Amino acid sequence: MKKYKIAVIKGDGVGPEIIDATLQVLDAVSVNEDFELEYEEYLMGGIAYDITGSPLPEKTIKGCKEANAILFGAIGGPKWDNLPRHLRPESGLLKLRQELGVFANLRPTLVYDELVNASTLKESVVKGVNLVVVRELTGGIYFGTPREKGDDKAFNTMVYERYEVERIAKIAFDLAMKRDKKVCSVDKANVLEVSQFWREIVIEIAKDYPEVELTHMYVDNAAMQLVRDPKQFDVILTGNLFGDILSDEASMITGSIGLLPSASIGGRVGLYEPIHGSAPDIARQGIANPIATIASSAMMLRYALNENSAATKVENAIIKTLQDGYRTKDLSQFRAKEVCSTIEIGSIIAGFASK
Ligand code: NAD
Repeated sequence: MKKYKIAVIKGDGVGPEIIDATLQVLDAVSVNEDFELEYEEYLMGGIAYDITGSPLPEKTIKGCKEANAILFGAIGGPKWDNLPRHLRPESGLLKLRQELGVFANLRPTLVYDELVNASTLKESVVKGVNLVVVRELTGGIYFGTPREKGDDKAFNTMVYERYEVERIAKIAFDLAMKRDKKVCSVDKANVLEVSQFWREIVIEIAKDYPEVELTHMYVDNAAMQLVRDPKQFDVILTGNLFGDILSDEASMITGSIGLLPSASIGGRVGLYEPIHGSAPDIARQGIANPIATIASSAMMLRYALNENSAATKVENAIIKTLQDGYRTKDLSQFRAKEVCSTIEIGSIIAGFASK
């Protein structure tokens, strides 16, 4: 029997609730599979600061590096907003990503048929959307030097090195091979030299993936196309800045923040987490939607552990739960038969996933 070590970080706000619901599902799905999951809990975020004085204790970094994957809830909240920057929960998360060397952020946008009305866009536009934004996470203008802010002038530098473009492009093409075999690389090559360089390298990498159809799109057009006809996309490959903006835009096509998972990968250990934050306004009420975290755990099973059958079971269990009309409060106005608590939704999904 295979054994995997999962570092579990519950964090702050709704973090503990959504992770507890997710662990129920993971336990249930592993029952009929040929693997066992060993969870080790680590402190991070505001709670870590309260207990240890640091938002990212050394013990957490070490434990995460030794794990097969990291399942992460959410961190942050008003209680810690006035701390100096380096002690704030968010700094802990940035540092953890750095320590892990995760350079690729994967954000799927999947519109569930049952929740098609949750979107602000027309049903005919969003029904059937299933795309992933692959965003480069550790390079580009957020990290480029020189950077400067003076009284009369300020600037940042958008810089990409060959290896950085090559490795993120490979992630996108590998992913496309497991999906609809389409990559749309988004850049601003009509204006920026760095984008021309990006495009040339993506074209080179594409030669190793003859089955994948590669297209290119300028970022301004991509922003339009995402709301005009999101179904045209399978995998969107893009840099850090453009990906930051487009992945938020893409996620909102679904209209519901509690459903959307993410993975940060490329280092030795990947980080799997919902895209939403710690939702302090609804913490400890048992009403948070755990589906984003449960869907993140399915990504973990697929990408970190290569347990594809278990991942598919979890994904199908989410769909079945929604089809049967079980909803958390945030989705109660969309074809709900029964409004359930966070942990109840976890149990229902676990029930379907164990079959
Ligand atoms: P948020 O995502 O926490 O909440 C935005 C809104 O969405 C809130 O009304 C919240 O109730 C709702 N919401 C979020 N997740 C939900 C869920 N699972 N089910 C139902 N409703 C949900 O964003 P925010 O309010 O801007 O940030 C709150 C805190 O989270 C801040 O401290 C912020 O820094 C932190 N944050 C953390 C992460 C992370 O841990 N990766 C990401 C973003 C924000």
